[in-house]
Amino acid sequence: MLYDLIIIGAGPAGITASVYAVRKRMNILVISKDIGGQTAWSGDIENYTGYQFISGPELTAKFEEHMKKYDVGLRENEEVIALEKKGSVVSIKTDKAAYEAKTAIVASGKHSRELGVPGEKEFKNRGLTYCATCDGPLFTGKDVAVIGGGNSALDAAIQLIKIAKHIYLVNIKAQLTGDKIMQEKVRESKKVTLLNNAEVKAVLGDKLVTGIRIKEKGGEKTLAVRGVFVEVGLIPNSEFAKDLKKNKRGEIEVNSYNETNIPGIFAAGDVTDVPEKQIIIAAGEGAKATLRAFKYLTQQKT
Ligand SMILES: Cc1cc2nc3c(=O)[nH]c(=O)nc-3n(C[C@H](O)[C@H](O)[C@H](O)COP(=O)(O)OP(=O)(O)OC[C@H]3O[C@@H](n4cnc5c(N)ncnc54)[C@H](O)[C@@H]3O)c2cc1C
Repeated sequence: MLYDLIIIGAGPAGITASVYAVRKRMNILVISKDIGGQTAWSGDIENYTGYQFISGPELTAKFEEHMKKYDVGLRENEEVIALEKKGSVVSIKTDKAAYEAKTAIVASGKHSRELGVPGEKEFKNRGLTYCATCDGPLFTGKDVAVIGGGNSALDAAIQLIKIAKHIYLVNIKAQLTGDKIMQEKVRESKKVTLLNNAEVKAVLGDKLVTGIRIKEKGGEKTLAVRGVFVEVGLIPNSEFAKDLKKNKRGEIEVNSYNETNIPGIFAAGDVTDVPEKQIIIAAGEGAKATLRAFKYLTQQKT
């Protein structure tokens, strides 16, 4: 089957792209490892217009419900491993099958950066995690550390204030870099100890995490914690798109029409070099990408 459009990813960008595509009566397929992407990991969302407050999992459920209202072809739990253009056809290979389409939208977002310190791999899912929303409740009443100083780290710390006994916020920089409103929430809590200019050197434990070794100006010390939440940035999921032009961070370069360097292949959301990574921006970019893909198909016909 030759689809009109294949969308890679079902985060805000991919889901919005799919809703626009079915309403244009395009014959589409969405291929994604999961539904919701980073939105599913988010805690409190207070900046998606129309919802003064909604949790990440709730907004994900709304997105999913909206997409599934339509007859969208969906391959869930499937990972795209290669994307290329062969003649006029876009060819997509996944870990399970191969597909062809006239156009594609890459909306594969980002994944968590690792710390790269001893103990990280060993204690992953044994006290060390990259998702406070998913795993926070496992650490009820325990001392934990959140590593990072940007929005993701602040979001994790805010979620954990309601759950953990005490939170060490370990920030390698001299100051926090996340939004001021989130910084205020963290600073207001007596449960949070902020450690600026502090670098994690190792994750410690036996069967489960028992602590982290950090380096501060005064030297190295151990913090006794049962949970470690790594929130040190995100890396674009763009490796499978070998022929697409990317910037030095690995983000796919797009113009204001969401066109990549390959005609017929578009990209949207956090995986692109569009500045500012937000749900509303990713959703808007997804809509734009589909409208452009639709125009491209119309132009090809005439
Ligand atoms: C902790 C946290 C809190 C946040 N809080 C907010 C907030 O309050 N407000 C806000 O506006 N933004 C927030 N953000 C940012 C926001 O979530 C992202 O900007 C947005 O989700 C990006 O959407 P996206 O669709 O581009 O990518 P993603 O959400 O990353 O979705 C990518 C999709 O692609 C899939 N995928 C990836 N690789 C492949 C592959 N090879 N094959 C198939 N599928 C693949 C993934 O499974 C996923 O479904 C937060 C982010 C985090 C991490």
